[in-house]
Amino acid sequence: MNKIFLATSLALLMGLSSGFSQATEVFSEEDLAAVAQLRERGLQGSGGFDVVEELTTLVGARLAGSPEDAKAVAWAQAYLTEAGFDRVWLEPVTFPTWHRNKEEAKITSPIEREMVTLALGFSPPTPAGGVEAQVVMLDDYDALEAVDASVVEGKIIFIRNRMERARDGSGYGPAVRARSLGARIAAQKGAVAYVIRSIGTSTNRFAHTGAQRFDVGVRSLPAVAISNPDADQLERVMALGEPVSLHIEVDAEFVEAYTSHNVIAEITGAKYPDEVVAIGAHLDSWDVGTGALDDGAGIGIVTEAGRLIKALDQRPDRSIHIIHFAAEEIGLWGGRAWAEKNKDRMNLIQVGAESDFGAGPIYSMRAKVSEEAKPVIRAIHEQLSPLGIAFDGWGAYGGPDFRPAAAYGLAAIDLRQDGRNYFDYHHTENDTLDKIDPQHMVQNATAYAILAWLSAQSPVKFGSGPDLIEE
Ligand SMILES: [Zn+2]
Repeated sequence: MNKIFLATSLALLMGLSSGFSQATEVFSEEDLAAVAQLRERGLQGSGGFDVVEELTTLVGARLAGSPEDAKAVAWAQAYLTEAGFDRVWLEPVTFPTWHRNKEEAKITSPIEREMVTLALGFSPPTPAGGVEAQVVMLDDYDALEAVDASVVEGKIIFIRNRMERARDGSGYGPAVRARSLGARIAAQKGAVAYVIRSIGTSTNRFAHTGAQRFDVGVRSLPAVAISNPDADQLERVMALGEPVSLHIEVDAEFVEAYTSHNVIAEITGAKYPDEVVAIGAHLDSWDVGTGALDDGAGIGIVTEAGRLIKALDQRPDRSIHIIHFAAEEIGLWGGRAWAEKNKDRMNLIQVGAESDFGAGPIYSMRAKVSEEAKPVIRAIHEQLSPLGIAFDGWGAYGGPDFRPAAAYGLAAIDLRQDGRNYFDYHHTENDTLDKIDPQHMVQNATAYAILAWLSAQSPVKFGSGPDLIEE
């Protein structure tokens, strides 16, 4: 039996599709020996837990545009330099930002009750002393769009939609519209304040903050999220059938333009230094908790992946960039700046992959690449499958900070993490280091190291450029 026949029968035995390519047909022995080393050292390593521990301890929460943001950038630059990467540099990112001073929400009638709340990003302040009005409860964002202005004029709107728990986080998208777009619709309809049930799955009594879409000149309303138990309570009070009034107070300030930085570390490629495999995470966080899961974990994972590759005897063929993105939370500003900077050289970006879904284990991989690169992706997946990672098809966007580059045809890979518990902590005071299982980070960092390494060694380009632009 020849080798190809053996490989084919093995593939059939394993129930793999006919598009299967064996890694030994695609990559050299040396490249695969390096994978074995990455796997062994990765699984014995820290997974980058030491990185997120240091970031969350020394800096803590780091809202884009805050003094802690500048501290985080300085930390990242020093950390990556100290780690011995070939080059570390900063790229400026300018964006509008916002900070909270205080917020309050309470039921004032027919009973009196304080609710746990957080203002939503870019919420304007209320007049001093707050606003008080009768509340109108609506099911979800669609109900808000449909409601007649006469029903909500002069009222406080409360959106009660619940986010569903799911491994892939698919409950987030439908629920989050109420947060990102609702207040401006409420403003158009003449309401005086906007309240949502937290976009999150926790039953604990803290609120989940998050961004609202912000456009200069578009009128919005003071907007807050209340904790999920408080939302339950408010619904029960409303079910009593009497008019219910709320008092909402927000004090917050808007900053027109702040300049932060993407921090980039490079392992310079030996053969094609201008071609780049980009792995990243975002350095900023919300201003509550310590941003451990979102996205300190990602920062740890990709930094450790870079360290593992750096420690190999062999240099990658292509350059590998470890990117700590700026200002993701308040509008993907770091990702937008990176896309703009690279749009005319997209064909030189082999692939983008961001870790930004907490610290759960990776369960599957999917990719958006050219037809020609698909066998290479199959071969890379073969090297990831011992880590418990399934192949999940064609189509990926590489994570939020690589999404803006999709407009220029960036080839992308998603390593999808189990996010079942992620939205229990997302954007809350409870996003702290103890929520991270270091063993899961080890699996993540090892996977990113193998992915970045083999992407850099691929015999073909993954096809970034006009051909991968989606309609
Ligand atoms: Zn994030």
